[in-house]
Amino acid sequence: MSTLRSRKIVLAARPVGEPRTSDFKLIEEELAEPGEGRALLRTLYLSLDPYMRGRMSAGPSYAPPVEVGDVMVGGTVSEVLRSSVAGLSPGDLVEGRTGWQTYGITDGSDLRKVDPALGPVSTALGVLGMPGMTAYTGLLNLGQPKPGETVVVAAASGAVGSVVGQLAKIKGCRAVGVAGGQRKCDYVVRELGFDACLDRRSPELAARLKEACPDGIDVYFENVGGAVFDAVLPLLNPFARVPVCGLIAHYNDTAPPPGPDRLPGLMRQVLSKRLALRGFIVSDFAEQHPEFLREVSRWIGEGRIKYREDVVEGLEKAPEAFIGLLKGENFGKLLVRVAS
Ligand code: NDP
Repeated sequence: MSTLRSRKIVLAARPVGEPRTSDFKLIEEELAEPGEGRALLRTLYLSLDPYMRGRMSAGPSYAPPVEVGDVMVGGTVSEVLRSSVAGLSPGDLVEGRTGWQTYGITDGSDLRKVDPALGPVSTALGVLGMPGMTAYTGLLNLGQPKPGETVVVAAASGAVGSVVGQLAKIKGCRAVGVAGGQRKCDYVVRELGFDACLDRRSPELAARLKEACPDGIDVYFENVGGAVFDAVLPLLNPFARVPVCGLIAHYNDTAPPPGPDRLPGLMRQVLSKRLALRGFIVSDFAEQHPEFLREVSRWIGEGRIKYREDVVEGLEKAPEAFIGLLKGENFGKLLVRVAS
């Protein structure tokens, strides 16, 4: 085999607070032989996702951290270059977890073949991938939206939130988004068809949200925490459902927020309104993947679900783009095009 050189981004240091570019390191090395029973993959797209911030820290989580010096974890869409894995042939397109690197070697157990007939292959990391599946399973299983109800979601122009709001519309609900800035809000209402969208940075967020939800909130799909949750909590209706999907406003926290202990107030609302808050990880619903793919690809084909991708060119841009994601600088599903 001709020698290939692989570029990879490893975790150089554990961040304290906001990650910095110096927490990552780009290295180049000769690629090892894949060996028997393994396949060599060339990365086409790398997905950048908020959960990666958690993997950079050593604290307890639902998944083990990346060790300092190891390649950053990440979902990828790749082309099979060589393979001695049964059922996997050169030229196949696959979605896997080969991380922030230009080539990956795998035994194939963590791969899923991508069907290019369903849409551009990049969608296997977004609307037809993990984020879309998160929206679908979290909203439908835990949010249980009913026609006429009000569903609120933040990070509404992003990979998960955009699908949550459009599914809420499909289910006959009023969909209210929260997003960072007017440009994102205009897109959420005009392109995605939400009924309203509010700027999360507005000092009047709570009052605007109350106006946008005249009948209160029946489902709050929790993507962010922080100031949005504070504005939502008083508006939750009795028996409201709160699928707790993500808390991105807190991922860079180094200490609890200042101020009085608000836990008793929260628990009082949970009790008196009989709220159902339930955390979930997308893998909890893995068995629903075929129906997710079938339904969401159909809705995309019918124009009922739209999506937007924010594509950054070149693996070396991944750290900067990821740092931006944690500040809301992405507009749509954030991807790195690693090779064409
Ligand atoms: P997005 O594509 O929505 O990008 C992240 C967005 O979060 C930013 O664009 C920004 O949107 C918003 N954001 C960033 N910082 C803050 C802040 N301080 N306060 C409020 N909002 C902020 O990401 P995803 O759709 O991939 O992820 C959305 C959420 O879902 C995350 O919390 C993620 O961890 C979670 N998630 C959970 C999964 C699970 O299995 N439970 C699986 C996948 C995702 P804006 O500027 O518009 O506010």
